[in-house]
Amino acid sequence: MADSTKTLLDESQMPRRWYNVLADLPSPPPPPLHPATLAPVGPDDLAPLFPMDLIAQEVSTDRYIDIPEEILDVYRLWRPTPLYRARRLEKALGTPARIYYKYEGVSPAGSHKPNTAVAQAYYNAKQGIGRLTTETGAGQWGSALAFACSKFGLDCEVWMVRASYDQKPHRRSIMEVWGATVHPSPSEVTEAGRKILADEPDSPGSLGIAISEAVEMAGKRDDTRYSLGSVLNHVLMHQTVIGEEALTQFAQAGETPDVIVGCTGGGSNFAGLFFPFLREKLAGRISPTIRAVEPTACPSFTRGRYTYDYGDTAGFTPLLKMHTLGHDFVPDPIHAGGLRYHGMSPLLSHMYELGLFEAVAKPQTECFAAGVQFARTEGIVPAPEPTHAIAAAIEEALRCKETGEEKVILTAMCGHGHFDLSAYDRYLSGQMEDFELSQERIDAALTRLPNPEV
Ligand SMILES: *Cc1c(COP(=O)(O)O)cnc(C)c1O
Repeated sequence: MADSTKTLLDESQMPRRWYNVLADLPSPPPPPLHPATLAPVGPDDLAPLFPMDLIAQEVSTDRYIDIPEEILDVYRLWRPTPLYRARRLEKALGTPARIYYKYEGVSPAGSHKPNTAVAQAYYNAKQGIGRLTTETGAGQWGSALAFACSKFGLDCEVWMVRASYDQKPHRRSIMEVWGATVHPSPSEVTEAGRKILADEPDSPGSLGIAISEAVEMAGKRDDTRYSLGSVLNHVLMHQTVIGEEALTQFAQAGETPDVIVGCTGGGSNFAGLFFPFLREKLAGRISPTIRAVEPTACPSFTRGRYTYDYGDTAGFTPLLKMHTLGHDFVPDPIHAGGLRYHGMSPLLSHMYELGLFEAVAKPQTECFAAGVQFARTEGIVPAPEPTHAIAAAIEEALRCKETGEEKVILTAMCGHGHFDLSAYDRYLSGQMEDFELSQERIDAALTRLPNPEV
């Protein structure tokens, strides 16, 4: 690593198993509850939606789960992913800190999401399922699942939020290239969609509505299951390939991170990077500070309440104990669509309560400024979501400049921004704004929690 900026990629860096952080926590997270009975949700409740292998992974406390060869074989299309040292950014900042970033934008879909999409498609195909349904907002998850389904001969049906369907035709195109069927949501295909359209024919849709449509269609047919791109335990576990690789690459570079930063929407890319480092920290071998970065427009960790709430807007999902802004909280329209989720992974929420990492919030103009500086120094144009992590890395590096500390900073760079250039247009032409989120708005949404007494 001394002279180059990139780790030499070598297949031996690829992990052969996922790491399950549940095995190393002092207590398990509170269970999801059935919305009607308030009893913990069991495998039978989940069987119409997910294949049994994934349900087993969701509740497993085994420390490691072997990655099947069929999945490794698809991972090899782009894994291991590179760990870069951002030397040009360091120089531009004039910092003694060393900044590294683990880059997941080299996947076919351009983000970390195929790490779990491929696993989910595989386990569904293994159980004889023929079709997966899902929702997508900006299109990142839908395209990852469309790609993954094409690898295992599964049909893929995606409900894409109408506003994005109209504004981001290229994300829809790429899903169709991989063979998926894409519906604008709300659609005429489902009861949930027809109900909305009857009241509001021009509805722009929402992630909550799209989830309702995808879940309804999965429930209707025996050969169909539903797939979720973040939030759940098994999704976070699949993403640990990122951190395991980074650990190996850091060891080869002779470095140890002092600070790890990642952006959090549902929490999966951040968790995927830091869980393996946390294992080493809990074992007393390293002691990095670990920091989540969220948007000030959707600050679930820093301003949300830790309580039971629905995972979706309409209130169809089990109750999840998590940091939430309220299930019908509608974040202002920031450009990092992947971070506009009212809740948070229950596993990460529990770990935050245990004090295992810290969290900060950043306004989008600061993040885009960081994204542009990153692009102009390192070359890669980041997706709007990881610009939050980059902004936090730059902040830390500038602190080091003042104190003279030579900290090693590791940043989760979870995707490229090639489909997000209209957001960069707005930033560069001075039309991007930050939104002030009043306490009244958060308080109002929290009064509509399903059952605050649970
Ligand atoms: C989906 C997405 C996110 C947000 O999801 P997490 O589960 O928090 O990782 C962040 N960045 C990119 C590039 C995404 O596609």
